[in-house]
Amino acid sequence: MSEPQQFASDNYSGICPAAWQAMAEANSGHAPAYGEDAWTERAADAFRTLFETPCEVFFAFNGTAANSLALAALCQSYHSVICSDAAHVETDECGAPEFFSNGSKLLVAPAVGGKLTPQAIRALATNRRDIHFPKPRVVTITQPTETGQVYSLDEVRAIAAVCRELGLHLHMDGARFAHACAHLGCSPADLTWRAGVDVLCFGGTKNGMAAGEAILFFDPRLAEDFDYRCKQAGQLASKMRFLAAPWVGMLGNGTWLANAAHGNACAQRLARGIAGTPGLEIMFPVEANAVFVRLAEPALAALRRRGWRFYTFIGGGARFMFAWDADPLRADELAADLRAVAGEAAAMPLPA
Ligand SMILES: *Cc1c(COP(=O)(O)O)cnc(C)c1O
Repeated sequence: MSEPQQFASDNYSGICPAAWQAMAEANSGHAPAYGEDAWTERAADAFRTLFETPCEVFFAFNGTAANSLALAALCQSYHSVICSDAAHVETDECGAPEFFSNGSKLLVAPAVGGKLTPQAIRALATNRRDIHFPKPRVVTITQPTETGQVYSLDEVRAIAAVCRELGLHLHMDGARFAHACAHLGCSPADLTWRAGVDVLCFGGTKNGMAAGEAILFFDPRLAEDFDYRCKQAGQLASKMRFLAAPWVGMLGNGTWLANAAHGNACAQRLARGIAGTPGLEIMFPVEANAVFVRLAEPALAALRRRGWRFYTFIGGGARFMFAWDADPLRADELAADLRAVAGEAAAMPLPA
């Protein structure tokens, strides 16, 4: 049944053993529904322990819902949300943030290396202050970015400082938050609330779970009625224990971090394996579990003929993502094929 691994997306992978085992343990007998069960309480407590703070914790089925509902909670319909032009909320959520906020406008800044900058935030937030323009209220950053760059602690702090000064909330899309922690080697607390982040969406799916994202509010006032918002949006799981249990299986024992570190290491391995090859270019610094490769169209076609699957609609090159179970030898096969197709394309006569 099983096919050779593909690195088109980190959500091609299955469920990691720690998450699977916790789900199996939760699958015994009956338990109260809608989050009133012991697993949900344990998962929320595991987040509070990991983040060293009594935050409010909610669970949603996917990242689009988590981001959209979190942003909706932070603003009114006449407010606006500042994000980078590469942000998942802008490019890959089908207008859900605007939909769930009843129309809050996304104000898009050109990304610098995939990132938002304090300067861009200030410019967007102060450009229009009149009644005719939606009032800036939230900034959202993706950590790591959609192209695999990690905001340093200082970069997050600098963005938070501008937010505080201008009266903006700071939201972090952490679909791969674990990969950022693994890269920086810093604690989840340091990278979020201690740096000035108000709300974090912590991705479970790309960290080895079947499904599920956690929404963490570090200021409990911002979480008011968020449970109703989740329910109305169809994001309140009745058998919540199965969304919650995997977190219990992954947070307390460091699996969340080990899974991410493995993905990051495989990305480094691919990058090392193709670095300096004529005819291809690694497009962005490899800091998380992504490698983006620029290749000529014939080389991309040749790579597909060799059986590789990948997307080119993000970042403008071939994207390779490494999950918790990425096989390093398979990554080496990809590196060899990338070198081969780049060489073939480089040897081809230019079209007349
Ligand atoms: C995958 C991802 C999400 C969540 O996507 P869903 O498919 O809705 O779970 C959010 N943000 C980023 C940056 C992502 O890569």
